[in-house]
Amino acid sequence: MEKILNYINGKLVEPVSKTYIDNYNPSTGKVYSLIPDSDEKDVELAYQAAHAAFPEWSITPKDKRSQYLLKIASLIEQKLDKLALAESIDNGKPLKLAKSVDIPRAASNFHFYGTGILHYASHSHSMENSAINYTLRQPVGVAGCISPWNLPLYLFSWKIAPALAAGCTVVAKPSEVTPMTAYLLSEICIEAGLPVGVLNIVHGLGGKVGNAIVSHKNIPLISFTGGTTTGAHIASVAAPMFKKLSLELGGKNPNIIFADCDYEKMLSTTMLSSFANQGQICLCGSRIYVEKSIYEKFKNDFVAKTKQLIVGNPLDDNTRIGAVVSKPHKEKILSYIDLAKQEGGTVLCGGHEVKLEGDLKDGYYLAPTIIEGLSHTCRTNQEEIFGPVVTITPFETEEQALEMANSTKYGLASVVWTENLTRAHRVANNIHAGIVWINCWLLRDLRTPFGGVKQSGVGREGGFEALDFFTEPKNVCVKLK
Ligand code: NAD
Repeated sequence: MEKILNYINGKLVEPVSKTYIDNYNPSTGKVYSLIPDSDEKDVELAYQAAHAAFPEWSITPKDKRSQYLLKIASLIEQKLDKLALAESIDNGKPLKLAKSVDIPRAASNFHFYGTGILHYASHSHSMENSAINYTLRQPVGVAGCISPWNLPLYLFSWKIAPALAAGCTVVAKPSEVTPMTAYLLSEICIEAGLPVGVLNIVHGLGGKVGNAIVSHKNIPLISFTGGTTTGAHIASVAAPMFKKLSLELGGKNPNIIFADCDYEKMLSTTMLSSFANQGQICLCGSRIYVEKSIYEKFKNDFVAKTKQLIVGNPLDDNTRIGAVVSKPHKEKILSYIDLAKQEGGTVLCGGHEVKLEGDLKDGYYLAPTIIEGLSHTCRTNQEEIFGPVVTITPFETEEQALEMANSTKYGLASVVWTENLTRAHRVANNIHAGIVWINCWLLRDLRTPFGGVKQSGVGREGGFEALDFFTEPKNVCVKLK
């Protein structure tokens, strides 16, 4: 069985413990590879390598660092088919999605920061004739980067690319649930000739590897994407150590649909914002609020379209809904569907597992599920489910829609559908979220700030904000007289 290896000091190595964890293929429910069960000893080796590489890498000219990142981007593009297949097998997502979104966007991340660093500038503040201040932006040091399983290579590279571009060296940990493309990335870095120790990838469990990175006394900065509970734990460890922290956490995003929207556009995009990647995108709009006058029509059309979605083998071209990522996650989602029923919800479609045949009979498949009849304050509408489950709720006024939209502890993304320009801007202005999509969803310009408010996170990724995060500003004041 294939063994994934750690990438430390430029080499692919076994974990110090020589022990491994099973890696499951969610589409079959079978173990298909082994993940290093690394611990703090591996993290220490990775740290030592990153620490040794830092002085040289941090003063490597930007255009040279850029060339490495662009080389990695082009190798990802060249290996698109192989990486997309690996992502689909590891995660359960439709191959088509991995080919069109995950892997191209991972390449874009390296491309974007490989070029972005060339345009990164810092401020100067003149005190007229008496003095001038200028700000140096210097790489912070060894960065700890920890990522989740839902968009594995895409979100892993979203952290690593700006860190490396800024001149940090990195100790990174992908999710133990989906480690394969991070492993393939380490092969790509070797092929690209990335200097040894600049990027180190340690595989294993969050409680062991992740915790060892977060609590390492010489790793001054942690960039984390994952669940809110994990983020709170990380903050409790890292904050008293005065580490720089970027936390991209959970969401429970509203999708607000006004009667004056472009209906067909709204309906087809809402299918995606509800169920793409089996609903396992932190930006999915899982609470759908619909203006009362079109509620019944929307409900009928949405249910009819959802029933047509093909749940099937992630490798088939026709499949729209693949497997959810793991057995425990499947059970968590099912438990929320039970909760919704207990809370008085009506399941309009889905609500159950889907049993496929042959090799796929033990895979983790769920029918896309729509629930109505719930109060916006109930747990189903307040807690992140992170699966192919959405609720629909009618509203009568804009104020009511906003009140429901803003009622959770989360504030990551939101979607608004209306052709009324004034209303679109007004609602965007009043939504408590880091991201508002008007008449679209998941449209991303990598220069824009990415992140959430309230318990959806702290800080922003994207654009120069990420380069700011991985560098420390130093003000130099020069007296002129
Ligand atoms: P998770 O919090 O369970 O795990 C995320 C990562 O943290 C994994 O690599 C895990 O091994 C590691 N980890 C776990 N415990 C740790 C600890 N004690 N110390 C250090 N690291 C630890 O999240 P998940 O289940 O992998 O991902 C799903 C969650 O991620 C959802 O809540 C989703 O909304 C969120 N997410 C957020 C964004 C965003 O940009 N805001 C993007 C994608 C996913």
